[in-house]
This record gives sequence, C-alpha cells and structure tokens, in this order.
Amino acid sequence: MERAVVITGNWKMYKTIEEAVAFVKELAPKVAAAQSQVYLAVPFTTIQPVAEALQGTSIVVGAQNMNDASEGAFTGEVAGGMLKDAGAKFVILGHSERRHIFHESDTFVNRKVKRALADGLQPVLCVGETLQEHEAGQRDEVLTRQLTMSLEGVSAEQLAAMILAYEPVWAIGTNLSATPEQAESAHQFIRDLVAKNWNQETADALIIQYGGSVRPNNAKSLLDKPGIDGLLVGGASLNVDFFAQIVNDSSLRTAK
Ligand code: PEP
Repeated sequence: MERAVVITGNWKMYKTIEEAVAFVKELAPKVAAAQSQVYLAVPFTTIQPVAEALQGTSIVVGAQNMNDASEGAFTGEVAGGMLKDAGAKFVILGHSERRHIFHESDTFVNRKVKRALADGLQPVLCVGETLQEHEAGQRDEVLTRQLTMSLEGVSAEQLAAMILAYEPVWAIGTNLSATPEQAESAHQFIRDLVAKNWNQETADALIIQYGGSVRPNNAKSLLDKPGIDGLLVGGASLNVDFFAQIVNDSSLRTAK
C-alpha cells in the first residue's frame, strides 16, 4: 500500500503575522522540489496572511485547535467554519498540550473531530501516552481508550481521510524522541486497532505521523520505518532551515 508522506509543522503560540509571512516566503522555495506533502499548523491570527502568501504553492495551511460548536456564545473560542473561511484546510485536534494543560477530554475531542469533518476540515488527531503511563506499561491501554473514544461515530471512509499522529507525551519538547523502533511499534498497534475496529482497507490507507522531538538528525531514521508515514514537528518547525531539511530528507522515501 502506497501512502503519501506528510510533514506537519506545529508552530504552537509563536510568530506574529510579519514573522509568519516572512518564514513561509523563505520556506516555499526551499521545499518546492520535495515530494512529501507539507502542512503548517499556524496561530489563528496568521492563517489568512499565511494562506495568501502560500497561494500557488502546495504547502497546506491549518489550525491547531477549534471549538466543537458551529457558533455560539463561547467567548474566546473559534469555530471550524471560521478557520475554513480564513484559509485553513486541516486542524490539529487532541494535541497533548490541549489534553493536559487545558484538560480536554476524549469525548470533547470526539465532538471536535465530528465538527471538523462536518465543516470540511481534515482532522489531524493526536494520541499518545504520558511518561507515567509509559513507565507503567500502559501505552496500548491509553491508545485504545483515546482512539476508541475520540473516533466514536467516525466512519471508515471519514477516518481514511484523516491523519493520526502518535505523539508520546514524554517525547514532546523534551529532546527525547522515541526511537524509530518504539514509534514503529506504536504505529503498528494503532494500525491493527483501526483494522479491528473499522477495516483493513482503512488501516492500510491511513496516514500515521510520529511526533515528539523530531529534529533534522533523527527525522530520516524515523521515516525509514515502513509504518511511519510522516512527522508532526513542533520546535524544529520554527526554524526554517531545520524544517526545510526535515521536509527534504523525507522526500528521499515518499513511496511506501
Ligand atoms: C508537537 O508540538 O506536536 C511536538 C511534537 O513538539 P516537539 O517537536 O517540539 O517535541
């Protein structure tokens, strides 16, 4: 089964409009020859100017979060339709910083996934165990709970069009990436679970990214694993040369 390779940068709460536009103007020519697909999850305020600056390129702009309602009296929240209106094509949901700092539950994430699908945004759903859960040998239990609950009511066809990201919380922003073997093993577990709960065709088609301290010096060894279809890059995506290098290295093996 051939799956596209997708490299997503997650800028978190960094970059003003001016910085964001300057960054993407520098990035676009550096990755123009790459065969992998490049996604950038940017702050809400920069979605529209970044989408405009990237017109004519194949870089896809998205958001890092959204609310589960289409509109309403929810001060400070942003709806999926608004993100789409600003130029977003995808949205990261269930990121560990949302789950752990802002206490988002699996059921809340599930409602967001369904709303994003209804709004025509591609969800990039993050799952992964904490250090404590990792050390207690609870990875599979946590992944099963997060996937089953966050994807409740999502059809096989909808799931195949989403992206999943395995992001062990202990590897995010710590400079302690999972080894390619650890990541591959988790990806296999996720793919098997999708085959069991949905079907094999969906499991085969599904793009599963790895995220957690991806840097130019470990990206290629992670992508060399056949079950790792892309990377979700936080810190290193803020540096144009690091991110371009990760994207260009990933092109060395686009077909799986
Ligand atoms: C992330 O934000 O999803 C992430 C993986 O961050 P970092 O690459 O900095 O660990």
